[in-house]
Order: sequence, then C-alpha cells, then structure tokens
Amino acid sequence: MAREAIIRGDDEEPTRRKPLDVPDEPRTPEEDRQDEELRPQRLVDVVGQRSVVERLQIMLNAAKKRSEPLGHLLLDGPPGLGKTTFATVLPREMGVDVQMTAAPSLMAPKDLLPFLTQASYGSILFIDEIHRLPATVEEFIYPVMEDFRVDITLGDGLNARTINMKLKPFTIIGATTRSGMLTAPLRDRFVNREHLEFYEVDDLAEIVRRSAKKLKTEISSEATYEIAKRARGTPRIANNLLRWTRQYADSETDGRITTSVADDALRKKEIDPLGLDRIDRRYLSTIIDIFAGGPAGLTAIAHSMNVPSDTLEDEVEPFLLRQGFLRRTSRGRVLTPAAYLHVGKNPPPEAHGNLF
Ligand code: ADP
Repeated sequence: MAREAIIRGDDEEPTRRKPLDVPDEPRTPEEDRQDEELRPQRLVDVVGQRSVVERLQIMLNAAKKRSEPLGHLLLDGPPGLGKTTFATVLPREMGVDVQMTAAPSLMAPKDLLPFLTQASYGSILFIDEIHRLPATVEEFIYPVMEDFRVDITLGDGLNARTINMKLKPFTIIGATTRSGMLTAPLRDRFVNREHLEFYEVDDLAEIVRRSAKKLKTEISSEATYEIAKRARGTPRIANNLLRWTRQYADSETDGRITTSVADDALRKKEIDPLGLDRIDRRYLSTIIDIFAGGPAGLTAIAHSMNVPSDTLEDEVEPFLLRQGFLRRTSRGRVLTPAAYLHVGKNPPPEAHGNLF
C-alpha cells in the first residue's frame, strides 16, 4: 500500500506524556511520493546499516523456515534514516501483505480495528510515529501484540460486556523518532528493537549514485561525494539535495552533475560545507544571540525561532549533537565552542567551561 494512503489526523498528545506545544507539520503527499520513487525494494538494495540488515536477515530466514510471522519490530531513529524503507522491504522479502498507518490517525481503538480484522496470517501492520498512540489505543494493543486477541467492551456500567475476538497472528512494525517517549509496557512488547544510526559519507554517496541512476541523471563520482558530505548523515536529505542539484543542472548547465555544479547548486540552497542549512544555523545563532550560548530550554528556543519544537528535536538537534555543536544538559541546551566557530563567532570563555 502506498504511503500516500496514510491518514494523518489530529496529533494531540496524550496528557500523561510530555506535552508537545506545537504539532508536527505532516509530510506532503508530494514528499511521500518522492520518497516512494527512490525507496529500495529489497533488503539487498538497502545501503548501509549493515548490522541492522544482518539481524533482520536472520529474523527473516528464521521466520521463513518456521513459516511463522516475524516477531514485532520497533525501529527508532531520526527522520529520513530508513524506518519506512525497512517496513516496506520486509513484507516484500516475506511475501506477505502490508498495511500502513500512523499513530496520529489512531485516536480511538475503533480506528485500529479495521487494520486488525484485515490482517492476514503473517502480514505486517506498520504504525508510524508510534510514540503518539493515545493511552486508550495503547492499552487496546497490548493483548493484540501478546495473544492476537482484541477485547471489546460493549455497553456501560452494569450492562457492560467484554467480547474477545481472536485475530490471525501477524506482525506489528512500529517506527518512532522518540523511543524515549514510548512507555515501558509498549516497548517491551516489541521483541525486536533496532536503532538506526546516521549514515557514513561512503554509504550516502552510494545512495546518491543509485538515486541518480533511477532519476536518469548523469553524475560524477566526486559530485556524489559532494552531495553526500552535506547530507547530514541522512538518506532522505541526500536524495533531496540530489533532486535540487539535478534541477539546477538542468536549468543552469547541460544537465550533467559535476562537482562544481553540485557545489554551486548547494551554495545557492544555502547548504554549508558541513550540510547545515538555514534553520540549523538560525538555531545556533538564536542560542548565541538570545540565550548567551545556553543553557536554554527547547520550548523557549522554539518560540524565539517560531519553529515547532518537534521539528527542532527531531530534525535539527540530532545532527548538531552528533556534530559536537550542542549538548543537552539537565538545565537546557548548551552550545560548544565549535558551534560558535562554525557561525563565525568567538566562543566566550564560559563556552569552553560548558564542555566539561
Ligand atoms: P524514515 O521512515 O526513517 O523517515 P524513509 O524510510 O522514508 O525514512 O527514508 C527516506 C528516503 O531515504 C527513502 O525514500 C529512501 O529512498 C531513502 N533511504 C532511506 N534509507 C535508505 C537506505 N538504507 N538505502 C537507500 N536508500 C535509503
């Protein structure tokens, strides 16, 4: 089933979890279509994440040999690292059906019911953003995951009756950018858990090379590296930069992507040599100019920038943390001297102290 079919609804947070002050912007159907176009089809086409791929291959082999469904699988990691890709590759490898949904569209148990009744033996149900499941749906899903059983309560008070319905054994693949927000009982019901790491430049260059081939665009090997180096460790960003560079090459040159074309195109897009874009740099300068380098609370930074705090936490901060520009402390976000130097400012003496 295509990702366009995912219905995204109101993403109000359950109150027992950390409240998110500004809702996420849903991905547009066009963005989903673009992801779909370049998505690897089989496990052998997946670039990088070798140890995850090896473990998944073992799970697949075992499930196929025993003719049993895969165990429930939780995939976590920042956006664009391949969670949906794995969730679409696995059913293809198993030769089973897949249904796709996202937690924000599962506001009540009844929203999940059609997926459960349609799940055939061994099929896969992919639930994106699973950390956003409301408590009622989460509790409803426990017996589903453990015993393939749903408990439906009919009526109220004295007249209330619980009906049990048996389901065919199937697999839930949950994806999350925030595994820390998952409750322990839900996390524990995923027997397999995989964390996706940012990609190495070599792997991203290979992804760019393969994507250029699919898009029928000529690109030099050096140019694949030029794009890969600025892709912030993320395949989706690598593909987006490639699409932009391709447009630039079509508009400004003969359509071939050389290193200098890639460099010019990315400069025009204000992507710096480390891959930071305007919003990353604005994040750094907001902490420097408004919060004196930190510590600063995420919500305060998000309000100052007028950007949803989810976007900062999911899409901006993970790479800055990995890059050594940012630290998360109990008192808030703190910039390191490297961050000051990157935006052309002198770090104050305290910034050096903040390192330790
Ligand atoms: P997520 O679900 O984690 O946000 P996706 O699985 O949608 O990320 O990946 C985004 C895009 O990046 C996909 O369309 C796919 O083309 C590409 N991609 C992700 N991981 C890989 C990979 N390991 N190898 C090749 N391409 C990948």
